Parts: sequence; C-alpha cells; structure tokens
Amino acid sequence: MPDCIFCKISAGELGTEFLYEDEDLVIFKDINPKAVTHLLAVPKKHIASIAEMEDSHTHLIGKLFLACKKIADKLGLKGYNLHVNVGKEGGQEIFHIHVHLLSKFSQN
Ligand code: 5GP
Ligand code: ZN
Repeated sequence: MPDCIFCKISAGELGTEFLYEDEDLVIFKDINPKAVTHLLAVPKKHIASIAEMEDSHTHLIGKLFLACKKIADKLGLKGYNLHVNVGKEGGQEIFHIHVHLLSKFSQN
C-alpha cells in the first residue's frame, strides 16, 4: 500500500465525512474548494492517474462518473463541471485518481 492520502481518506482512516460511499468509491468535500460546491470522487482502489488506467478499470471509472451524477442529483445541483487533472504537467497534485465535481450552485 503506497503512502497515499486518498487511500487513507477512502478507507475511512481519517474520519472524513462522505457524501456518498459504496463498495468501490467515496465522495467527499475538497479541503480547498475552488467553487461553491467542490467535491472529489475517489475510488477505494489505488490507481495513480488516468495515465495509469488499464482496460480492467473500465467499470470502476464508469462508476466514478455515475456516482458524480447521482450525488449532483441528490444535492439538486442545476449544473456542474467534472474535471480530471492528468499528470504533473496536467496539474495533478494527488497521485490517486479523482474526479473533481465543481458547481457554482450550492449543495443545498
Ligand atoms: P489535483 O490537483 O491532484 O487534481 O487535485 C487534488 C485536490 O485534492 C485539490 O483540489 C486539493 O485541494 C484536494 N486535497 C488535497 N489534500 C486533501 C485532503 O487531505 N483532504 C481533502 N478533502 N482534499 C484534499
Ligand atoms: Zn491511493
């Protein structure tokens, strides 16, 4: 197991509040929000980056995006952006795959 903050968060080791959780992934608030609503969808399995994706991850990546849609519906967000940074040069800072869910609408 790599020393990875998102592995620890998704395993529930840091007591992070999850807005969504299933057997494969969690969604929680970004610690440094860049929009009114800024959530991160994170698989429990450690995959460093989209750049490391393999065919066997197809279902998991699909679930990650579907979970973003489900939480956006649940929160009543009228519109939102899904964003993935890939690689250091692509702005990725945490090397454990995550989808940013950003919205100018609030979570209520
Ligand atoms: P990246 O640049 O890798 O796509 O985005 C990493 C995101 O993770 C950033 O938006 C940053 O604010 C967020 N982040 C980094 N460390 C933590 C943390 O410990 N907890 C939470 N909730 N978010 C974090
Ligand atoms: Zn990890």
